[in-house]
Amino acid sequence: MLSLKSFIKNVELHNPHEPEFLQAVTEVAEDIIPYINDYHPEFESLKILERIAEPERVISFRVAWLDDKNEIQVNRGYRVQMNSAIGPYKGGLRFAPDVNLSILKFLAFEQVFKNSLTSLPIGGGKGGSDFDPKGKSDNEIMRFCQSFMTELYRHIGAETDVPAGDIGVGTREIGYLFGQYKRIQNNFTGVLTGKGAHWGGSYIRPEATGYGLLYFVECIYDFNNESLEGKVITISGAGNVAYYAAEKAISLGAKVITLSNSQGTIYDKEGFSLEKLAYVETLGRDLYKYPRKFKSATYHEGEKPWQFKCDIALPCATQNELDEADAKKLVKNGCKCVAEGANMPSTAEAIKVFHKAKVYFAPGKAANAGGVAVSGLEMSQNSIRQQWPSAKVDTRLKAIMENIHKTCVRYGKEENGYINYLKGANIGGFIKVANAMKAQGVL
Ligand code: GLU
Repeated sequence: MLSLKSFIKNVELHNPHEPEFLQAVTEVAEDIIPYINDYHPEFESLKILERIAEPERVISFRVAWLDDKNEIQVNRGYRVQMNSAIGPYKGGLRFAPDVNLSILKFLAFEQVFKNSLTSLPIGGGKGGSDFDPKGKSDNEIMRFCQSFMTELYRHIGAETDVPAGDIGVGTREIGYLFGQYKRIQNNFTGVLTGKGAHWGGSYIRPEATGYGLLYFVECIYDFNNESLEGKVITISGAGNVAYYAAEKAISLGAKVITLSNSQGTIYDKEGFSLEKLAYVETLGRDLYKYPRKFKSATYHEGEKPWQFKCDIALPCATQNELDEADAKKLVKNGCKCVAEGANMPSTAEAIKVFHKAKVYFAPGKAANAGGVAVSGLEMSQNSIRQQWPSAKVDTRLKAIMENIHKTCVRYGKEENGYINYLKGANIGGFIKVANAMKAQGVL
């Protein structure tokens, strides 16, 4: 019998000082170990879980670049190639000052399960740098991206490892990275996703994570014979995921009352309209300016959105942004559903609060899989040298999210009817990868 305690102890021993990685592994192991013991005892001697928790390869490299003052700057670049059992490594690049190996290993680990849940043939990886794009000029961003790719290119490829965006990496950065790859390799290929729609990208990729999140929430409500019409939603973040989540929520008849960044939260008691959202986009990081234009709103410096009464909370900012105290506030105010647009935004303690209160808690690996799913569709379109119309991509995205929901219900339904989406996503994502690893031998 596999023991959770000794497994976790071992992972801790082998990965000291990596709290986020340990958190992500523990979150999965708590569901997977009882499942293995009950249904797949053969995975124990095959050491499937031990192997899944060990990256196939970790690459770390120097990224030196010249800033606008002609001074040399040095950053660290990484690519964590976590698991290729069901397809080429796939996952975003994050450029943010807090990036370190623990964060990238947790993201790569989550990506393995998320990508498996999409039903597409993609393995898991993640990468990035401690480079801070904030306050950098366009030329500095370009020079950084070119230097980063000048090392990364030798480790990636359309059939090997296909990076994309994440925090701090959007279409602009993907453009510079793609340009440099193409220049070095003299090869126009689907080596990155999130490309511009006119140079190999897929329609709906920018919208995919936010739209997919709302499709997933719609599935949760459909399953309970309810609609999103009139539901009050709090959203954290003001980036790509938050923005398109808000847009889709509004179009489905819900009322979105907050958006935020690391400096503070906008609370608009009348809810955002599409026009108001477009205005938020023009503000950049200066969200505090919003109430000057819209009197129905207040700005809450240094505060998070979770104090406001809502039916649904969508954390779309970053890891561990929603803690136990936030979870208790949400539950006390009657929140019924929490779906993660970001990766691991809820702490382990917060998740326990949600489960105890029977709040529907949809973890990022299920609820935010729409982004990587459309990346997978971008890879398909690149392979056949075609571009599908928006409506076709959107329909496929919706079908993928519905399928993930079904998988979560299948593996996460408890005796009292409550759906433990975390358990469903963990087990549903694990099985395919585990069976592929078993088939491919000891690697
Ligand atoms: N960074 C996104 C995620 O967390 C997307 C990755 C991709 O498209 O490869 O899933």
